[in-house]
Amino acid sequence: MTIEQARARDAADPLRHLRDRFVLPEGVIYLDGNSLGALPRATIDAGRDMIEHQWGERLIRSWTEGWMASPARIGGKIARWIGAAPEEVIAADSVSVNLFKFIVAALRHDPARRVVLSEAGNFPTDLHIAEGAVACVPGASLRVVERDALGDALDGDVALLLLSHVHYKTAERFDMGAWTRRAHYAGALVCWDLSHSVGAIPVDLAAAGADCAVGCGYKFLNGGPGAPAFLYVAHRHQAAWGNPLSGWMGHAEPFAFADAYAPGAGMERWRSGTPSMLAMGALEAALDAMADVDPAALEAKSAALFDMFAEAGDALGLECIVPRKADARGSHIAFRHPQAEAVMRQLIAQGVIGDFRTPDVLRFGLTPAYTGFEDIARATQMLGALLAPADCTAGPASV
Ligand SMILES: *Cc1c(COP(=O)(O)O)cnc(C)c1O
Repeated sequence: MTIEQARARDAADPLRHLRDRFVLPEGVIYLDGNSLGALPRATIDAGRDMIEHQWGERLIRSWTEGWMASPARIGGKIARWIGAAPEEVIAADSVSVNLFKFIVAALRHDPARRVVLSEAGNFPTDLHIAEGAVACVPGASLRVVERDALGDALDGDVALLLLSHVHYKTAERFDMGAWTRRAHYAGALVCWDLSHSVGAIPVDLAAAGADCAVGCGYKFLNGGPGAPAFLYVAHRHQAAWGNPLSGWMGHAEPFAFADAYAPGAGMERWRSGTPSMLAMGALEAALDAMADVDPAALEAKSAALFDMFAEAGDALGLECIVPRKADARGSHIAFRHPQAEAVMRQLIAQGVIGDFRTPDVLRFGLTPAYTGFEDIARATQMLGALLAPADCTAGPASV
C-alpha cells in the first residue's frame, strides 16, 4: 500500500477524530501503546485541576469531595470496557499487588484445593507474584505448564487458574468463555489478567462467567505511567471473598479508626492503603476521554491495522508469531527476527517506537484510538529499508 492509499484509508476511518484527543509528538510513529498509552490531551487540564485546585486549594477537604469515592467511581467507568457491572470493579494498586490479593483469596476460599495453575511464558509478574503468594499459604503450590498442557493440568487440586487473556509477546488470545467453563467444570476458579486486552478489544467477563479479573491502567487505557490497576469480582463471590491485604482503606468504616478489621461492602474491601490521587485523576481523565467510544469499533480498526501490517510483514519475509484469526489475538503484531534487538534500536532511532522482547521478538502495538494507516505504511516502509540489505529474500520494501 502506498502512503497515498494509506492516507485515503485514514480519511475514511470513522475513528480518525479520536487521534486528536491525544498528544502525539511530531516525527514519532508510536507503536507502543500496549506498554505505555499516549497522553490524552484532557489529562493535561485534569492534572492541573487535580494539583492546583483539588490539592492546592481544597486540601484535605478533597477526600470527602470526591477522592474517597474515586476508586469505585473509576472502576464504574472501566466496567463498560470489560463486560462488568459498575459495582463489580474498583481501581487500586498495581496489577502485581492485585494478583497477590486474588491468589491468596482463592486459596483461602477452598482449603481443599492447594494449586495455582498458570501458563509457562505468562507475563513475568503474574508468575513471580504467584510464586510469592503460594509461599504465604501453607501447603499451596504453583503449577506452570505450557499452553497445550493446561487442560490436563486442570485437575481436582487446582484452586485457581491464572491466565492472561492476551499474551504480551505473541498476542494469542484465550477463548475466555471456553476456558472459564473448563475451569469451573474442574471445580476451579479463574482469574483473568486483562492487561493486554482492556481498551483495545472487547472483553465480556459476564458472558464468560468469569470469577475475578485484574487489568492495567497505563496500557490501552492511557492512564499514565504507573496508573492504578483495577480489580473485578463477580457479584456472586463478593460477600464471601476477603482481601488478604486488609488495609484501612478497605475497612467498612475507615474513619472509625477501629483496631479490628471489618471488610468494606462490595468491591471497597479490595482497597488496601491510601490511593495515589494524582494517578487516579489521570486515569479518570483518560477514561472520560474515551467514554463515547464503542469497544467493538476499536476492535474492527485494530483488525484492519493488523491486516495491513501483516501483509507488509509477509512481503518482507518476516515471521509473524501472532495468530492471523482476528478473534484469536489481541491488538499488537510481533515478528521473530534474529537481529530483533538491533533492528528495533534502529527503528526507534528513526522515530518508529515499538518494543524488543527477548530473545528475538519485534513487537508493535496497534492502538486503534490513535494509530493510523499512514503510521503503519511509514513504519513498515522503514522496517523494509532496514531489513533489505541483510535479507535478500525479502527484496526491496514493498509498501
Ligand atoms: C503490563 C502487565 C502487567 C503489569 O503489572 P504491574 O504490576 O502494573 O507492573 C501485569 N500483567 C500483564 C499480563 C501485563 O501485560
